[in-house]
Order: sequence, then C-alpha cells, then structure tokens
Amino acid sequence: MKISRIFTVTLGSLVLAACTQTTEQNAKPQEKHSHWGYTGHESPEHWGELSPKFRICGEGKNQSPVNITNAIDGKLSPIKMDYHPSNVEVVNNGHTIQVDFKDTTNVLQFEGKSYTLKQFHFHVPSENHIKGKSFPFEAHFVHADAQGNLAVVGVLYELKGDNQRLAPIWKNLPSKAGEKYTLETAFDPATLIPKKRDYYRFNGSLTTPPCSEGVNWLVLKNYDTIGQAQVDAFSALMHGNNNRPIQPINSRVIVE
Ligand SMILES: [Zn+2]
Repeated sequence: MKISRIFTVTLGSLVLAACTQTTEQNAKPQEKHSHWGYTGHESPEHWGELSPKFRICGEGKNQSPVNITNAIDGKLSPIKMDYHPSNVEVVNNGHTIQVDFKDTTNVLQFEGKSYTLKQFHFHVPSENHIKGKSFPFEAHFVHADAQGNLAVVGVLYELKGDNQRLAPIWKNLPSKAGEKYTLETAFDPATLIPKKRDYYRFNGSLTTPPCSEGVNWLVLKNYDTIGQAQVDAFSALMHGNNNRPIQPINSRVIVE
C-alpha cells in the first residue's frame, strides 16, 4: 500500500509548479501562490517555509536532485523513447525555459509502462551530479502515464561548440517571465536524446516547489554538449542559476 502511495504524484501538481508565473497573473498577488526562487529569502533552503503546500521541500526524505554515486547493478531493462517532430510552445515561466507538447505522440516506455512526454526544460548548472561532479547544464524531459505518475529523463551537458539541435529554441528565447510563443517549425525532441541510453534509476521528487515525491528519475549516463554562449544566454534570462542544491539520498538506492 505504501508503495502505491509513494508513486502518486499527479500531473496536476507538476502543472501547478510549471505554471506558477502564468497563473499568478490571473490571481491577486500573494493569495493563491507563493513566490519562490533561487536567491535571497525565496531560495531553495527556504522553500519548505514559504507555503504549507511546499512543506515537503523541507521535510521530504526522497527529494531531488541527488549526487549519483554508489549505484548498484540492477540489470535494468532498456528504456524506449519513441519521439517525433511535434508542434511545441516555448515558455519562459520565470523559473526556466520550458518546451510544452500539446500532442501525445512522444512516448517513453519503461518497466512495462508508457509515459507521454509533456514538456522539457533546462537548469544551469546541472541539478543532479554524477560521482560528485556538477555539469554546466541539464535538461529534464517530463513524462506522465495515464494515472499521472511521472517519469523524468535527465540529460547532462558538457561544454563544447554551440549545439545546433538546440538552436531552433535558442534562436528566439522568450525574454520575460510569462512570455511564450509557438515554434514555427515542428521540433523533434529525439534530437536531444543521446543515442546510447544506459541510465541511472532512482526515486525522487520535483526539483521545484511543491517538491512532490514519487517521481521516477532516469538520468542518462551519456552526455550531450552545449556552447558557452548558449549557457550564458539562458542564465541571462534566468538572472543567474536555476538549480536546486543536492538533496540527501537517505535510504534510497540508485540502480544502474
Ligand atoms: Zn527540472
């Protein structure tokens, strides 16, 4: 019973987290949503105190991100990612740049279940670490199954030349919080997933308030690359970093 409860993170809470900025514009300030951020009194170490809805950010024992270390060999079965060129909307939600999918054709298959790609977004620097190492950039591909259970695929980036596969998004990044636009040409999210898909698997949470737990995390072992100018353009829009610090692993096991 406990297991099934743990896995009950609804897409609703994710959408709430992702849409805070947009929703705020329709609500009276301070009434429906609490502000949160990455600096000052709204910084990650205070998230749990900013609202009763965010309490798990401070009290949860299965929080993300984590330092991926001491993984045990779990003979993991391969994941399948069946992604296609799609119509997408690029949103600046004040906390990240997020690419939203309206259709349901992009599917992740994992442990016998199908999860639909809802959105992907970025963090600078990386949120997850591997064996104590931070990376300059990380993308999170957020999927939900029919019951609303979440599976997030994390892709870490190393610095190299500009990444041309990100260029269609970077060409016209929405500069202000709340701004969004529809990409004119179809975008294929498959271009952003490394060909080799060996992964680390662990249970965690949303890395933004309300920090809901029960999220299936799959972090790919193979990296992608990004240019320094692309990282700089992103962090300029975010007015700095947008990474939550590493959270205690507690009794969780990381499998590879
Ligand atoms: Zn994220």
